[in-house]
Amino acid sequence: MTLRARTPHIDLHTHSTASDGTIPPDELMRHAAAVGLDVIALTDHDTTAGWTKAAAALPSGLTLLPGAEISCSWLSPDAASSGRPISIHLLAYLFDPTEPRFRDARARVRRSRTDRGMRIVELLQADGYDITWTEVAEYAGTAPIGRPHVAHALLLRGLVPDMTTAFMPEWLGRRYRVPKANIDVFDAVRLVREAGGVPVLAHPKASVRGRIVSDELIRKLAAAGLAGLEADHADHDAAQRAQVRSLAREAGLFVTGSSDFHGSHKTIRLGENATTTEEVYAQIVAAGKGSSVLSSRFSAA
Ligand SMILES: [Zn+2]
Ligand SMILES: [Zn+2]
Repeated sequence: MTLRARTPHIDLHTHSTASDGTIPPDELMRHAAAVGLDVIALTDHDTTAGWTKAAAALPSGLTLLPGAEISCSWLSPDAASSGRPISIHLLAYLFDPTEPRFRDARARVRRSRTDRGMRIVELLQADGYDITWTEVAEYAGTAPIGRPHVAHALLLRGLVPDMTTAFMPEWLGRRYRVPKANIDVFDAVRLVREAGGVPVLAHPKASVRGRIVSDELIRKLAAAGLAGLEADHADHDAAQRAQVRSLAREAGLFVTGSSDFHGSHKTIRLGENATTTEEVYAQIVAAGKGSSVLSSRFSAA
């Protein structure tokens, strides 16, 4: 990154149409430059499918940090636990996308997501809702089919007034909730590291999204190779952000702050909460061995 007089604006968590975002990767890069970002990480769910298109469209002055957000889970061995795994998102940066074990693990999660989508549509049909797999697939376009596309179908059929309602307990939140086969979070941290990547726990204290893991588990993950925690995120309130910062200090992890931008179907703007410091960015770049950051100077060739 070129040295600038002002503090660089770094957003390390965004989604494109390669997963459940609404903006194609190339357009997302242009949008990033327009809102004044210096660095953007593309972190689509369980896929690197947007990397090439994003890299080819980089406007000058913008650096792309290739990444992904990995769907993980943790099932506590504690017999007193509910027996249901906790869902965890792990951001992974600068890994080698061709490394076979991690690549296969991402492919398994993607297949499981499609299977789950089909099962949800079946459950809705069994309850008399006239939703078809064809229309859900149509909303997904070229992206892997996910729950947002089922939600979109519910919305366009007028069954829910907005996307938020579609994820409430009476719909996809519980009644039509079908688990998918995520990667055990310790396996995921190992897979990311073995592929030369840098693993960062996304929104670790976002209790608004569901059950969260304990500080104790995060300490164990740090010992197993986790590098950082996302502190600033729209789903963390001020107290949770402070909690993440103090836990990170104690566990020797760095902190990031990101928008988790998904495009027009959510209210978050690109660059919002993007508080990652230049020092942390440099640490990620130094630790990432599987792929490199890209800027238009190099992608023009
Ligand atoms: Zn997430
Ligand atoms: Zn995300």
